[in-house]
Amino acid sequence: EAVQKKHDIVVIGGGPGGYVAAIKAAQLGYDTACVEKRGTLGGTCLNVGCIPSKALLNNSHLYHQIKTDTKARGIDVGEANINMDNFMKAKETAVKQLTGGIEMLFKKNKVKYYKGAGSFVDEHTINVDPIEGGEEAVLKADNIIIATGSEATPFPGIEIDEERIITSTGALSLKEVPKRLAIIGGGIIGLEMGSVWSRLGSEVTVIEYNNAIGAGMDGEIAKSTQKFLTKQGLKFNLGAKVTKGVREGDVVKIEYEDTKKGKTVALEADVLLVAVGRRPYTTGLNAEAIGLEFDNKNRVVIDSEYKTKFDHIRCIGDVTFGAMLAHKAEEEGIAAVEYIKNGHGHVNYGNIPSVMYSHPEVAWVGQSEEQLKEAGIKYNVGKFPFIANSRAKTNNDTEGFVKFLADSETQRVLGVHIIGPNAGEMIAEAGLALEYGASTEDISRVCHAHPTLSEAFKEAAMDTFGKPINF
Ligand code: FAD
Repeated sequence: EAVQKKHDIVVIGGGPGGYVAAIKAAQLGYDTACVEKRGTLGGTCLNVGCIPSKALLNNSHLYHQIKTDTKARGIDVGEANINMDNFMKAKETAVKQLTGGIEMLFKKNKVKYYKGAGSFVDEHTINVDPIEGGEEAVLKADNIIIATGSEATPFPGIEIDEERIITSTGALSLKEVPKRLAIIGGGIIGLEMGSVWSRLGSEVTVIEYNNAIGAGMDGEIAKSTQKFLTKQGLKFNLGAKVTKGVREGDVVKIEYEDTKKGKTVALEADVLLVAVGRRPYTTGLNAEAIGLEFDNKNRVVIDSEYKTKFDHIRCIGDVTFGAMLAHKAEEEGIAAVEYIKNGHGHVNYGNIPSVMYSHPEVAWVGQSEEQLKEAGIKYNVGKFPFIANSRAKTNNDTEGFVKFLADSETQRVLGVHIIGPNAGEMIAEAGLALEYGASTEDISRVCHAHPTLSEAFKEAAMDTFGKPINF
């Protein structure tokens, strides 16, 4: 007979949404438990998402630079080679340190960690089916937070074996560099993985159904992104509808319909990455037991306070509405707990940054030109290229530009879109500007250090209402 335990708050899922919610709840004085069945904390993001992908991106960039870029900088180095075992080990070390770090944070904050799969018995009871190192338990909870995340969306008719036909999880731990890598889907995950393996030597072909890559990017930014990735050797087939993807021995045979030309194209690859998005994950949760509501995309239906149809069961992160991003899940984790504690919480959905960690990086926040046009809002555009920025020039890293969209009457910042070195860091300044309702003139009156990349940010802001100094 399993032990019964009582907690104020039980969080199901230990990803960025769930673990942050659990720590916050404990900090606010609740007896809190978190149920996670993976064996490690940190969810998709730390284990098979954000963190391992960025480790591979960083180190493949370093390798690529050593191979192609050191001579011009006056550094003579011997031949650079990838040691795949150690290359992957470096990634695993980063992941282990961070997932272990959360376990420490749980201890420090006195969050009870149940290692196992949580499922609903009734609306106040969660059964824990233990994995190795876990304990069987039946949890009674005053409040429950569902944070079970997402999984890769399958492609109808294409069978994943995580060897030759892979998801992003397989792409993070290939044992050798595939000679030819085909990718279905030109979204952020596909393009990041494409960048990694292209730098290591794969011929990468991206097959995308839409007529633009970078799902959701500002149109101009998407085009420029495609240009610089093409320069780096990635091939793109847009408007391409995949109709076949089968493994035959050691090759994968792919067919797609070129929707513009109306003809079928056949393609062979050594590895096929299916990166067509992610879908909410609730397998094994036994949501039927409490009659949880789902929408047509299988997202858990919630209200503006993250409440499901039950006042005491809330839901956050990838498994419900909104952008599938770690920082969005984290914000919701905090807000959901604050709703429990005080009756109010806050996430500004108009100010959630997106970053693609290619080189240069692509980052944006707020609205795109397409969105502003559709909303009938009049705006000014301000731009500044990194080729005119002294630091970028000094570093010989000048690809890209900063683009501001500002209200044409008030100069209020409405959106910022950046392609450039460290754009992912720079976009935080745009986030502050948006949050405080800054105008582009406000930004232009803030002293930015010289020589830094962020001077390009300031000058692009100036360009929305006048002239930048250095271009
Ligand atoms: P998850 O991180 O998916 O966590 C849910 C957890 O719940 C999982 O660990 C799962 O095991 C557990 N679980 C599920 N059901 C149960 C159950 N019944 N009982 C117990 N445990 C359960 N986002 C970014 O912001 N930046 C990036 O750079 C980025 N890169 C990415 C790269 C890749 C390759 C991928 C795949 C994703 C990336 N993402 C990135 C997205 C990011 O990983 C997710 O948005 C984020 O992890 C969502 O957090 P979550 O807490 O909602 O869910």
